[in-house]
Amino acid sequence: MINDIEIIKTKSSKINEVDFDDLKFGSVFSDHMLVCDYKDGKWHAPKIMPYQPLTLDPSAKIFHYGQSVFEGMKAYKDADENVWLFRPEDNCNRLNISSKRLSIPELPKAYFMDGLITLLKLDKDWIPTNEGSSLYIRPFVFASGQGFHASPADEYKFIICTAPSGSYFSGEVKVLIEEKYSRSANGGVGFAKAGGNYAGQFYPTQLAKAKGYQQVIWTDDHKHEYIEEAGAMNIFIRINDTLITGPTSDRILDGITRKSIIELAESENIPVEVRKITVTEVVDAAKNGSLKEMFGAGTAAVVSPISAFGYKGTDYDLPKLESTYADFLKKRITDIQTNKAEDPFGWRYKV
Ligand SMILES: *Cc1c(COP(=O)(O)O)cnc(C)c1O
Repeated sequence: MINDIEIIKTKSSKINEVDFDDLKFGSVFSDHMLVCDYKDGKWHAPKIMPYQPLTLDPSAKIFHYGQSVFEGMKAYKDADENVWLFRPEDNCNRLNISSKRLSIPELPKAYFMDGLITLLKLDKDWIPTNEGSSLYIRPFVFASGQGFHASPADEYKFIICTAPSGSYFSGEVKVLIEEKYSRSANGGVGFAKAGGNYAGQFYPTQLAKAKGYQQVIWTDDHKHEYIEEAGAMNIFIRINDTLITGPTSDRILDGITRKSIIELAESENIPVEVRKITVTEVVDAAKNGSLKEMFGAGTAAVVSPISAFGYKGTDYDLPKLESTYADFLKKRITDIQTNKAEDPFGWRYKV
């Protein structure tokens, strides 16, 4: 552990103002945050301080050139008050992969891991225990350095904030297969968790919402032929008994939930295929009845079942099954995350 993390504790905890039985997702924040500065060519030791607003120069490059990347993860508390993370080193590594693509200096791994663990120990009481709830963790890095010159900034901030959150249950979603807009392109930044990727998704998603859908299914930017992601989640499609998801690429984000689902499904002898999947194949499967399930996979919702999809003006309903891969895999993964089941994969990480 790095032992030079300075801690400034809050003088007035807000914890008694929070109704832990009625938590939304990511809308109230714990007492403390971790802040780490990059200046003079290096990252300086992290500090923990009371959660508070930031002061930034109007010319800070984040505002103009969008140099910002983030992560999303969760901490859980079990019945014995042990605190657990899920594959946290993968988030740390991915943050640096994203940073590299955005010309942001990579962060020392110890600052991320030790900083996060120190923060979680300090704000342990903020980790909710109700079924489905967790402490949502948002690590992010952005350009705080000044100047209108269109070049990478010379100063950055790495911050971790946490938010006690209820389950991210959105119900079953009806989705629209996108034929015009793209989330990402070959050679682009789609594989990075860059803030701007989300900004670019909002407008097409609003258009889909106006047509009665809740989410967009992203297709490849070239011909909109291949199914790629579901909103800000990876997508899984079940045809007959086979679970299919696209291969990661420049355009598809390497989700930790995605890869965990692939491993879990394989260990349960569910046939899994990681391959490109065309819109035509999915439409044909819907028509001939072999399309059984579609679901999104990501940290926030874990698994988000899709009830219907729209394509070229026609809606296709998915069947209502007695037992689904979506429910089964969601339970398996959350049982491992919350220490309710054995973890043969070594994914759980004790804080
Ligand atoms: C974060 C994200 C995911 C899911 O990644 P997890 O590691 O499973 O949370 C999938 N797609 C996109 C575009 C994302 O930003």
